[in-house]
Amino acid sequence: MKKIIAFAAIVLVLTGCIGKTGTKFKEKGGEKIEESIQIIREADTNKELALIILYDNYEGIPGLKTDWGFSCLVKTRRENILFDTGGNSEILLSNMEKLGVKSEEIDSIVLSHIHADHTGGLFGVLQKNSNATVFLPTSFPEEFKERIKSYGASVVEISREEKISENVLSTGELGFSIKEQSLVIKTSKGLIVITGCAHPGIVKIIEKAMELTGKKVFLVLGGFHLLNKSEAEIKEIIKEFRELGVERVAPSHCSGDLTRRLFQQEYGEKFIENGAGKVINI
Ligand SMILES: [Zn+2]
Ligand SMILES: [Zn+2]
Repeated sequence: MKKIIAFAAIVLVLTGCIGKTGTKFKEKGGEKIEESIQIIREADTNKELALIILYDNYEGIPGLKTDWGFSCLVKTRRENILFDTGGNSEILLSNMEKLGVKSEEIDSIVLSHIHADHTGGLFGVLQKNSNATVFLPTSFPEEFKERIKSYGASVVEISREEKISENVLSTGELGFSIKEQSLVIKTSKGLIVITGCAHPGIVKIIEKAMELTGKKVFLVLGGFHLLNKSEAEIKEIIKEFRELGVERVAPSHCSGDLTRRLFQQEYGEKFIENGAGKVINI
């Protein structure tokens, strides 16, 4: 029995967050890719920032590879911040290439938590760009930190809330068994909260972001980690989103199909169908 439990625990650590839905592989969709590239270019000239989903198990546009994991590039006027790196560097780099995102242009990499579906693509990026600064939770294993440094990249350990750059901050390590940081971006429309897997609880993360900044939340994007929740439980969480005044939502990765459907019902056109290749301009 102990062996079975130990095996299950290893599988859990290796695969990261429980459950796999929405996984598809497609190679077509050139037109949609062009559209996304166009939106990214627009962000360079007349937008405040762009959020580019580089890795997800849900499809954002056809033509990009989908795979279990999450990665989002935050492109501001000042810099490019890569939040999480998906599970596989080949898939990450291939999606980046298709969208015209260059590894060399990444200034900082923020890792939400240690699970392989969020950290697996890191070293492939560092191989091409060792100038990036990697912001990770202090609780990461020492050997992981040393491995990053061996590429020549610098490591910034995050325990409490901390500024990543102008208008971008980390919530700090939250949660108990699986510690995780989320990204909070201050924009003219309100806060954007980006979560990897939201293991500490999606509502807790939103509350933390509001408490740190005293501002309202415009958009919550990423993995909400509600795969194993019942319809009643998810509806309760959606109610809390409304009470907190969250304006828009873009759940993907470990949110689950049911969560996406229920949020879509509630939020209507303020629900963003999120997935690999999706670009959101602010
Ligand atoms: Zn995950
Ligand atoms: Zn996880």
